[in-house]
Amino acid sequence: MSRTLLIVKPDATKRNLIGHIVSRLEKARFKIVEMKMLKLKKSQAREFYAVHQGKHFLDSLVKFMCSGTIVPMALEKENAVKDLRALIGATDPSKADCGTIRFEIARDIEKNSVHASDSDANAKSEISFFFDN
Ligand code: ADP
Ligand code: MG
Repeated sequence: MSRTLLIVKPDATKRNLIGHIVSRLEKARFKIVEMKMLKLKKSQAREFYAVHQGKHFLDSLVKFMCSGTIVPMALEKENAVKDLRALIGATDPSKADCGTIRFEIARDIEKNSVHASDSDANAKSEISFFFDN
């Protein structure tokens, strides 16, 4: 078993899609082991996205991620990181495969409804960013 972090982003919480996303995750056999709702402060969003420092989209991304409620959750499954990236689809929803979460519900390349960790090491640090155990 391995773990990964998913975040329901503000565009999805605003459109009442938390339940839809949770349902997709559970049907794909992810076990939700931690979950909470919160609003990020700008300093926290900058820390979380530190890896994107210098990117042209960072300021806008930080503003968006602080614009509403988010729902981070730690998920458990075999090959959790890889399987979750496959389930959410490409960053740009216009390039996401049919059937992926982003294909279904994302609005655009920024407001793309969900975050998922991209490696086991990042999953570990991102889970501990939100959950203290
Ligand atoms: P992913 O979330 O698929 O891992 P990245 O780590 O590359 O994608 O980017 C983090 C987030 O930054 C994306 O999910 C998206 O919200 C935003 N983003 C990425 N690329 C762009 C872009 N070219 N324009 C606007 N926002 C972007
Ligand atoms: Mg990423």
